[in-house]
Amino acid sequence: MRGNGSRPGGAIPRAAPDLGVADGEPTLLTGWGRTAPTLASLHRPADAEQVAELLAQPGARGLVARGLGRSYGDAAQNAGGRVLSLLDVRGVRGFDPKSGLIAVGAGFSIGDLARLVLPHGWFPPVLPGTSHVTVGGAIAADVHGKNHHREGSFCHHVRAFELVSPGGEQRTVTPEGTPEVFAATAGGMGLTGVVVEATLQLVAVETDRVRVDTERARNLDDVMERMERGDEDYRYSVAWIDCLARGSALGRSVLMRGDHATRAELSGGERSGAALGFSPPRVLSAPPGVPSGLLSTPALRAFNEVYFRRSPRREQGRLEALHSYFHPLDIVGDWNRLYGPRGLLQYQLVVPFGAEDALRQVVERLAGERAPAFLAVLKRFGDGRGMLSFPIPGWTLTMDLPAGRTELAPFLDGLDELVAGAGGRLYLAKDSRLRPELLEAMYPELGRWREVQAGLDPEGVLCSDLGRRLGLGGGSRR
Ligand SMILES: Cc1cc2nc3c(=O)[nH]c(=O)nc-3n(C[C@H](O)[C@H](O)[C@H](O)COP(=O)(O)OP(=O)(O)OC[C@H]3O[C@@H](n4cnc5c(N)ncnc54)[C@H](O)[C@@H]3O)c2cc1C
Repeated sequence: MRGNGSRPGGAIPRAAPDLGVADGEPTLLTGWGRTAPTLASLHRPADAEQVAELLAQPGARGLVARGLGRSYGDAAQNAGGRVLSLLDVRGVRGFDPKSGLIAVGAGFSIGDLARLVLPHGWFPPVLPGTSHVTVGGAIAADVHGKNHHREGSFCHHVRAFELVSPGGEQRTVTPEGTPEVFAATAGGMGLTGVVVEATLQLVAVETDRVRVDTERARNLDDVMERMERGDEDYRYSVAWIDCLARGSALGRSVLMRGDHATRAELSGGERSGAALGFSPPRVLSAPPGVPSGLLSTPALRAFNEVYFRRSPRREQGRLEALHSYFHPLDIVGDWNRLYGPRGLLQYQLVVPFGAEDALRQVVERLAGERAPAFLAVLKRFGDGRGMLSFPIPGWTLTMDLPAGRTELAPFLDGLDELVAGAGGRLYLAKDSRLRPELLEAMYPELGRWREVQAGLDPEGVLCSDLGRRLGLGGGSRR
């Protein structure tokens, strides 16, 4: 597709974000959770050649790639070493508006991709809960969206990518031609090399709206039953769960499912004036210096109560703008500051179908502990893709928790054991605290991944704080 495609004529992506530091300058980096900052020299290569040069001279503590820093924990950090920001490697290499194949630089964000291709009737195949994620970060974490139960994760839609390995060699990786390298890189958290470009298959859409059906479920069993019965009828499905409700209301939820609206579903006026556009507004910004404790359990319980009561008991066919269905939080810039100086942890688990009892126990423990879990979300997953990809067929539960409470660590350790014992796992892109001994149980393909990783990186150049903590990649040696 390289060279054969045309440049899309849609909105021109905005300039890459300014990191505010000179190239190579020591910089304190964190993930989105703002916990465990570490210092690394931050490099900003302009193209694949500069990436290759940096990989050929990794320094004593190695290096790792970084996108928009939306992983919650320490995956895109490298204490005392180098971090390569890919944000300038973001050109559009080719686009075929007939087939919906597009080749973009790894630093291109999913939001910019949507903005660029939507006017042509195409849309990114998988959207995580924020649009501020790069294509490179989406491959490295093999991100999932609300359509995983039907359409799999991001890498299911990647047709090829360019990977620069330690030593500077660049190779084209495809699912058919190089299946092992593909499967090790999809979800490999940047530890198999630096992705500099990817070719993706987009999905065709007729409008910039989602047709949403909403229903309230009285408890966890009720919502799971509704999802099991009806999810296959919807492309997108997600349930918001009240993790503070107890007793017969344990796990009460608001289930929101939908699909892309067709032109025929728009009203006459909307149809005639309809332009396909993706323009999420950013109207608010969280102030710096918010004290800890703002998001306390009583405050969250009050929020949950209002949210549950205000959601329609049953509503069908509401047309919602794409950005407000997919990325409601993007409207508030830097909302992670609302958690105060100690930051937040996101805990995301998946347990296989058949282990519903373990999921119920997790929700019971959360409610019993009165853990201030905010924005808990339940989804169903289909098949996984990469060796370390997070999704397995099962139930995934995600929640944000304020960091820093002393009782949180043992509480989450207990949940880890429960999840691992049920054949489940935690999501590395969200993790900042998992103990390495549980990794093997959670990721049965870890041994195979280690072999492929060692073949690509024999000197152990690719290092991250996550890798050091969990004994992955060069992080186990440097
Ligand atoms: C509000 C919010 C909602 C989210 N919702 C979801 C969701 O619904 N589903 C989901 O799956 N995830 C979700 N995430 C997590 C996010 O999608 C992933 O962590 C993603 O990897 C972040 O991409 P990034 O560009 O910010 O990468 P970073 O956070 O900068 O890096 C993440 C990992 O990717 C590696 N990496 C980055 N670029 C490259 C590259 N070019 N080559 C090789 N490796 C690279 C890094 O080394 C690191 O290991 C959410 C995050 C936030 C903040």
